[in-house]
Amino acid sequence: MNLLLVGEFDGHEEAEWLQALRAALPGHTLRLAQHAAGTGPGIDRSTIDAVVVANPPPGSLQGLPGLRLIQSLWAGVDRLLADPTLPAGVPIARMVDPAMTAAMAETALWATLSLHRGFFTYAQQQRVGQWQRRAQLRADEVPVLVLGHGQMGRAAAQRLAHQGYPVTAWRRGAAEDSAGAVASASASASVRLAAGPAGLAQALPGARIVINLLPLTPDTRGLIDARLLAALPHGAGLVNLARGAQVVDADLLAALDRGQIGHAVLDVFHTEPLPPAHPYWRHARVTVLPHAAAATDARSAAKVVARNIDALAAGRPLADLVARNAGY
Ligand code: NDP
Repeated sequence: MNLLLVGEFDGHEEAEWLQALRAALPGHTLRLAQHAAGTGPGIDRSTIDAVVVANPPPGSLQGLPGLRLIQSLWAGVDRLLADPTLPAGVPIARMVDPAMTAAMAETALWATLSLHRGFFTYAQQQRVGQWQRRAQLRADEVPVLVLGHGQMGRAAAQRLAHQGYPVTAWRRGAAEDSAGAVASASASASVRLAAGPAGLAQALPGARIVINLLPLTPDTRGLIDARLLAALPHGAGLVNLARGAQVVDADLLAALDRGQIGHAVLDVFHTEPLPPAHPYWRHARVTVLPHAAAATDARSAAKVVARNIDALAAGRPLADLVARNAGY
């Protein structure tokens, strides 16, 4: 197969990806597209079977008549789908990498434990030399609501349920589920499922901590707004590990200033890197992470890519395909 790598990388990342992908794809030819048009010296675009992409510049996937697969290196495909020139009818696969999923569950666990036990507050107290203990709740007294029950949401929910937190996970669900919540148990830990707008409305008032792991779609853009935040109990924690555009910043800042949200852990932002003057940087109730909740690991991700390229070559079904009409 003839493959083209198209994306926005810094020099080091580009070399790392090329090395990992070429090692995982023996027998296939992987070339690097070198500028916005997605071409490079000596690349005959008519021979390209599949592209491996990481936020490819808009328009860069045009003019590939033999294209049969767009394989994303990132789990979120919102920026990819926003390109109006994306070739129609070509399957898009996104990254589902067990190493990334495990990292996300770790971040969700760290944030939940830190909110539950007040460790962010203790860090602030240390800065001002304040010695003051907080009430210590048990994990089973701290209900957690995970928004999204896909690869990331499921892993986070399971990890937290194992830790003893009462966990509800919210998903889009089928239309017939939208009237309310359904219970679901896995072999090891039980996670309650809620679906649709009614399921969310029921789940919010009981949640001490909300963790956002939804894909960015027209339905989820701006979802975390004044209304949603006001439906939570006073002092609830918010953890956004998905996309910045799902939060209305002005609404969150107002809720933080009122104490309606006790603390927010934010990994993702409308503009990244977060601009130096943004109020989140210096807000006492905000912990900022640099979009580091779960990085794609080139070594394991390259193997995931190789499985799909081999499936394409052999005519087998492709894994982790995106439903373009749903936006994820
Ligand atoms: P999946 O596609 O596997 O899961 C998406 C989940 O969200 C599904 O449960 C889906 O419901 C639910 N969902 C989608 N739309 C709605 C809606 N309108 N209302 C309610 N539920 C909805 O995605 P992943 O778990 O793999 O990833 C989620 C997101 O995490 C990515 O899109 C990306 O933006 C972000 N991410 C962030 C990273 C970071 O480092 N910060 C790293 C990796 C990913 P249903 O089950 O009904 O389909």
